[in-house]
Amino acid sequence: MDRIVEDPSDPFAEARDEILVGGTWRTGGGELVESRDPATGRVVHRFHGASIENVDEAVRRGLKASQDPSWRDLLAHQRAAILHRIGETIDRHADLISAVQTADTGKTRAETRALAVSAAGTFRYMAAALETMEEAMPPRRGGSLTMTAHEPYGVVGAITPWNSPIASDAQKVAPALAAGNAVVLKPPVWAPLTSLLLGRLCQEAGLPAGLLSVLPGPGSTVGNAIVAHPQVGKVSFTGGTATGRTIGRVAADKIMPLTLELGGKSPTIVFPDADIDQAVSGILYGIFSSSGQSCIAGSRVFIHGSVYTEVLERLVAATERLRVGPGTDPATEVAPLVHHAHRDQVAGMVAEAVAAGAQVLTGGAVPNDPALADGAYYLPTILAGVTNADAICREEIFGPVAVVLPFSDEEDLLAQANDNEFGLACGIWTADYRRAYRIARAVDAGTVWINTYKQFSISTPFSGHKASGLGTEKGRDGISSYMRQKSIFWDLTGEPLPWVRG
Ligand code: NAD
Repeated sequence: MDRIVEDPSDPFAEARDEILVGGTWRTGGGELVESRDPATGRVVHRFHGASIENVDEAVRRGLKASQDPSWRDLLAHQRAAILHRIGETIDRHADLISAVQTADTGKTRAETRALAVSAAGTFRYMAAALETMEEAMPPRRGGSLTMTAHEPYGVVGAITPWNSPIASDAQKVAPALAAGNAVVLKPPVWAPLTSLLLGRLCQEAGLPAGLLSVLPGPGSTVGNAIVAHPQVGKVSFTGGTATGRTIGRVAADKIMPLTLELGGKSPTIVFPDADIDQAVSGILYGIFSSSGQSCIAGSRVFIHGSVYTEVLERLVAATERLRVGPGTDPATEVAPLVHHAHRDQVAGMVAEAVAAGAQVLTGGAVPNDPALADGAYYLPTILAGVTNADAICREEIFGPVAVVLPFSDEEDLLAQANDNEFGLACGIWTADYRRAYRIARAVDAGTVWINTYKQFSISTPFSGHKASGLGTEKGRDGISSYMRQKSIFWDLTGEPLPWVRG
């Protein structure tokens, strides 16, 4: 079996057939899971995923670990110290995480290294937020002292997609642990290795056994078993909107809270007064970085009619200069897609759009470089000649494909930009600060960038509007979504209640 050889401490050096179930590494009871390097198609690692029995055991052990006084009774700063150590451990192994994630997802090494560093920062941020979190003592309206306490759910299910595994995992695992829960993490089938590595690093950092399980396997069985498990008190999910709806139906039956971070079809808007150089580079980065496999990709590009031709020409020319290649080549800007099956799906959506009348301005094919023939590559693509009502403008492609649409004025722009089921992000390119604010407030999106794109930080809350999500991740309040409130009334008077008469 092929293996990653980049680091002597490579955790997959022996290609171990193990998953993390309630504190112990063992062969999973489920079907084989295979990770392939999308740059070459070669198998990186093949192992047994989790079974439904593994899920049950992980949840039961997680509940026990979360209730154990050695974890339950830790003071906030003591639990924060463990999170700090996890952050440091991730930092120390950032190169290894980057190598594993690039082999697993195809992403560039620059990106996977940045994701590892950001995951470390997430653990540190949540540690700091935990240490400085305050509980409330609301004003009294009677004879009792009133307090609001925040308590963990017990076991949290964390289900993540393949596009940025270590960062998505950290965004859920760090606040859920900070809140005092145990976590059962289900990584995606196409990219499970970084999450297994995170399990090892958390152990190395001293996280008590049982508090984190890592259970790769198909969503329809392993994922569903986590969501449906009666002792899982909350699920945080990042992935597609259709899957989010399915999970929502299961959660409704249990009356279980959910955080859903779902898909997008985000508008990025160029007004005539924009700095065109800045806008062109921002649009390119917004749609083609991560090969477009980003929930916040700026996939619908709206350009004011008066600058439409000029912006489009520059956009096409700049797109054709992008360097397509393997994620391990430092010169690469557009790496392969995560999997050949996904590349074929993206190619199919473009073919359908072309059959329906779309015009390919650039791309629309796999590269013809023989050196890239075995990889899951797709050229950065720009489509025009479509309307906002066409399927290619409504459905998430999750690949390096932008559609361009002209607009006449703000009213026309907002009508088109907001006429979409999603509401995740938006980019605005303009020199007019009043207009920038007006549009930012009027657009249906959880995040808006003005004269920039795809910037985010753990300290800024992130959420999707409409079909893009439910609830919020990140920010100081990120921990609260993994806690439930308890109100306590504590009588201070010693007076009997009115029904008791002497
Ligand atoms: P997906 O919905 O197919 O899978 C996501 C995860 O859910 C995987 O681990 C999968 O195995 C699991 N899953 C599938 N069916 C399930 C079920 N019935 N019950 C429980 N779990 C189940 O998504 P994907 O293809 O892995 O990722 C791409 C999608 O993720 C895109 O739509 C993208 O926009 C979205 N995404 C959103 C954000 C955000 O923050 N809003 C971030 C990244 C990705």
